[in-house]
Amino acid sequence: MQKLDYIIVGQGLAGSLLAYELLKANRKVLILNDESIPTSSAVAGGIFNPITGKNLDKTWLADTIFPYSKHFYLALEQETHTHFYHETNLFRPYANEQQRRHFLQLTDEFDLGKYIQLIAPNQYDGISNPLGGLYTTSAGWVDVPLMLQVLQELFLEAEAYQAEKFEYQALSISAEKVTYKNLQADKIIFCEGYYASQNPLFQWLPFNPAKGETLIAAIADYNIKEIVNQGSWIIPLGNQLHRFGSTYVWNQLDWQATNESKEAILSKIDKFLLKPYQVITQQAGIRPTTKDRRPFLGNHPSHLNVYVFNGLGTKGVSLAPYFAHELLLHLEKNKDLMPDSNIRRFYSLYSL
Ligand SMILES: Cc1cc2nc3c(=O)[nH]c(=O)nc-3n(C[C@H](O)[C@H](O)[C@H](O)COP(=O)(O)OP(=O)(O)OC[C@H]3O[C@@H](n4cnc5c(N)ncnc54)[C@H](O)[C@@H]3O)c2cc1C
Repeated sequence: MQKLDYIIVGQGLAGSLLAYELLKANRKVLILNDESIPTSSAVAGGIFNPITGKNLDKTWLADTIFPYSKHFYLALEQETHTHFYHETNLFRPYANEQQRRHFLQLTDEFDLGKYIQLIAPNQYDGISNPLGGLYTTSAGWVDVPLMLQVLQELFLEAEAYQAEKFEYQALSISAEKVTYKNLQADKIIFCEGYYASQNPLFQWLPFNPAKGETLIAAIADYNIKEIVNQGSWIIPLGNQLHRFGSTYVWNQLDWQATNESKEAILSKIDKFLLKPYQVITQQAGIRPTTKDRRPFLGNHPSHLNVYVFNGLGTKGVSLAPYFAHELLLHLEKNKDLMPDSNIRRFYSLYSL
């Protein structure tokens, strides 16, 4: 029997950052990860953006989580000698005069100066921006697949990773420990993203999963370094490659790319991109979004040693570093979890 402090199920953003924190705290960890299934993290645009949407809403906890995640990603880059954190302004050309007025009013009304910069018309070659637009600063994107690959290498080196599908019926739970096949651990933490819907222990949590698709395209003679967003976005990946995205679909939860989504993305891109492009690939994923748009952290109502870290939704890149650390402090130092993230808020939905 192999003895562990923690078993972690899943090596997406949630499982990876939590395992990293626990290993740093010198805990004995083993990640079990099914490599044969598609994941949300593999498809994510990886954008982090403190100000989003039609009403320039400030992201929940932006003033805390953005400085935290920046520090985290830069330190991880340094440790792994890999570049995956790309800080860049996000340019939102005004779609029309009405939107320009609306955005200017919001910028005036709320104290957004820390995150917003106004941009004069026609500053960009290749993008239609006759009315100008605005930048959100402190934005950018993380190359999530690259970061997770580098982390997996680190986990393998630490003998903390096993490619394996976790079978729920093989788990036995007692008050002191959990046992899974030849493994015995103090605690188990489920980080399966959308696949939590198949986990008999956490199926009751109120997810509201959203399918999404992105495209990779080559754009000729396009040199814009910023992310550009006008309904759909373009992220410059380097080597003439760009990611276009994304869609939101709540009623057809599968991992198949569709023509409908491709057309939905391209019809928006065509409104502002003035350069010819060629679509190379298309990917689909399912975001582990939650009904109240807050993450799911905490222990199972009946089992103090069975945990979940999930519900990162549309903002995994911004939320995962901070909440992985919150969970570490809770597990190792008994620090209370933030009530807005603690699954205790939904215990009333659980029935034995
Ligand atoms: C189209 C699209 C665009 C997105 N764009 C952005 C963006 O720009 N910015 C942003 O912050 N977020 C974005 N997201 C959201 C982001 O992808 C998620 O918030 C995040 O990746 C979720 O990570 P996770 O670890 O919870 O889930 P996942 O990445 O899905 O990982 C779950 C892991 O669990 C494993 N697993 C599941 N079941 C089992 C089992 N039984 N046994 C073993 N292993 C198992 C899977 O193999 C997988 O590795 C986007 C998502 C999509 C779909």
